[in-house]
Amino acid sequence: MAPAYRTVLIHPAAPPPPAPGAPCNGCGLCCLAEPCPLGMLVSRRRSGPCAALRWSDADQRYWCGMVADPAGVTRWRHPWVVRGLRRLAHRWIAAGAGCDAALQAQAPPG
Ligand code: SF4
Ligand code: SF4
Repeated sequence: MAPAYRTVLIHPAAPPPPAPGAPCNGCGLCCLAEPCPLGMLVSRRRSGPCAALRWSDADQRYWCGMVADPAGVTRWRHPWVVRGLRRLAHRWIAAGAGCDAALQAQAPPG
């Protein structure tokens, strides 16, 4: 059984998680806690941070690499493959939907 809490390393400039149902703001918490089904495929693991998660200095937020840069994540660079992967990722991760992560963030003591 998965532990009730997890320690994740998060970028200090990451935005705080939004209220449930609010638009995703790229806080990254859900993808750092565990990969989604698509993330499990590309990360080749079922726990830990998703290998596809990308931090953007320009945007000061995390992005799903399978949407933002599928070629960079998978190394598959054929344009039609990249287009297909991006479309698939949009559908699988319900990009644009509200945040449904049932997570509570707690800063480390000190
Ligand atoms: S879905 Fe929610 S927890 Fe996940 S990155 Fe977006 S805002 Fe953060
Ligand atoms: S939404 Fe993207 S970055 Fe987040 S766990 Fe899924 S594949 Fe990984």
